[in-house]
Amino acid sequence: MGSHQITMACTACGQCFFICPVGAVVEREPAGYDIDSDVCIDCGHCRAVCPPGAIEGVLSPFDQS
Ligand code: SF4
Ligand code: SF4
Repeated sequence: MGSHQITMACTACGQCFFICPVGAVVEREPAGYDIDSDVCIDCGHCRAVCPPGAIEGVLSPFDQS
């Protein structure tokens, strides 16, 4: 169960969608993206690439470096 969430600051650029290694970022109708917490593994890649810093979440203990 992942803790990452996309906040209102999201500009729907899609970078999180393309970088997520497990496909946890899903497209939302009519526009934008959501993170499926059942799939997210808290790797933090989406948060690292998000231009406006729109993603919040707690990193896993395995990815603190
Ligand atoms: S934290 Fe990792 S697994 Fe979770 S949505 Fe972001 S890129 Fe995908
Ligand atoms: S990378 Fe950030 S701004 Fe771009 S779609 Fe994902 S949450 Fe939104």
